Amino acid sequence: MNGERTFDLLIIGGGVMGSSIAYHLANDGYHGRIAVFEKDSTYEKASTILSVGGIRRQFSTEVNVRLSRYSLAFYEEFGERMETEGGRPEIDFKPRGYLFLGSEKNWPILVRHQAFQKSLGVETRLLDVDETLELIPDLNAEDLVGSSFSAGDGYMDPHGVLHGFVRKAKHLGVEYVYQEVTGILRKRDRFEGVMAKDGTTYFAPSIVNAAGPHAGDVGRMAGIEIPVVPVRRMVYLLKPPRPFEYGLPLTIDTSGVYFLHEAGQQILSGKSRKEEPPGFNFTWDRNYFNEAIWPSLAHRIPLFDQLKIVSGWAGLYEINQWDYNGIVGEHPEAPGFYMAVGFSGHGFQQAPAVGKALSEWIHLGRYETVDVSPLGYERILEGRKVLEEEVI
Ligand SMILES: Cc1cc2nc3c(=O)[nH]c(=O)nc-3n(C[C@H](O)[C@H](O)[C@H](O)COP(=O)(O)OP(=O)(O)OC[C@H]3O[C@@H](n4cnc5c(N)ncnc54)[C@H](O)[C@@H]3O)c2cc1C
Repeated sequence: MNGERTFDLLIIGGGVMGSSIAYHLANDGYHGRIAVFEKDSTYEKASTILSVGGIRRQFSTEVNVRLSRYSLAFYEEFGERMETEGGRPEIDFKPRGYLFLGSEKNWPILVRHQAFQKSLGVETRLLDVDETLELIPDLNAEDLVGSSFSAGDGYMDPHGVLHGFVRKAKHLGVEYVYQEVTGILRKRDRFEGVMAKDGTTYFAPSIVNAAGPHAGDVGRMAGIEIPVVPVRRMVYLLKPPRPFEYGLPLTIDTSGVYFLHEAGQQILSGKSRKEEPPGFNFTWDRNYFNEAIWPSLAHRIPLFDQLKIVSGWAGLYEINQWDYNGIVGEHPEAPGFYMAVGFSGHGFQQAPAVGKALSEWIHLGRYETVDVSPLGYERILEGRKVLEEEVI
């Protein structure tokens, strides 16, 4: 097809971020015509679908705590908010809390972060070893001094969330175009639209980059350097020798290994591999589990010594190499070019708040609900970093 179509706003990427932005704009009274471009209607390789779906308010920077606070309240009411004639989406939210385990080494950091989170109204609690063992009786606590627990945080089904946003956005009049964007039309400091793989040109003065791990490529199409690269993360689905009779919180061990309960009382686990090179690599291997994860799991919960790997997968973090935090807002030197990229492993949980904030910026010209200006591209131009100490 070699046609032409005209919209007011084009969103590149129909994952949780692009769809949340589209939903919020349409729901908040933006009257322009919105198109969301998604190159893969199955979302097979989208980070959203391959994520673990966790949300926590245990962060060390104000902007990240505020984003998660808004998003948590949003996800708690997700079914009602996303209801259409087709019904309410089911997201299977499990508010079992996030539990960061503390050794002598990281305890002072957890104490500092808990005080900071409390100052922002988040009821994170410091637990001693006995209280921690009440939550997870099977824990080996010999090298622990306590833990930091945020009740109410938890995890959910990313598939249900994504499809809830997409269905509601469509219901509110957003058009999804299942085409790859292959070029961006720019005349000096003005944007004119995009070209799709099938040859159609879509005109609009405003473009949103919500392309997840492809955000750097989309930036290059616009002539804008965006320091976001794809980095593989592997997840393992495991079967313990006996099921736990209690719900595990999403637990982050002192080794950096995390684990949580999945359906059927299986265990999901993973750990970010520091030396993982950037690239679109979706291969999944067991060696990393055997070498880097299993010993820590077996140490922490002796029962895990007899785990069996059931399956697993690999997905991509969209790593912002500048400072491992999202880049959100309008480009200061390219008006009409908006970004919601680079969330470096915490984008699923931030999507509702980022969608709300960017919607406000686009149609009101200011942030009202959550001030995301600390995450603006300005910080890169000015050499400032948002240093988040709680990156998993
Ligand atoms: C293993 C793993 C575990 C994770 N766990 C968590 C977690 O527990 N909590 C959390 O908050 N975050 C987690 N994340 C991170 C989270 O998944 C991402 O931050 C989030 O999903 C990013 O959403 P997105 O919409 O920006 O990206 P995506 O979901 O990747 O969506 C981007 C979309 O853009 C499309 N696209 C790209 N380029 C083009 C183009 N040129 N034309 C048209 N379409 C295009 C792609 O097809 C894709 O569907 C995890 C990630 C992984 C990999």
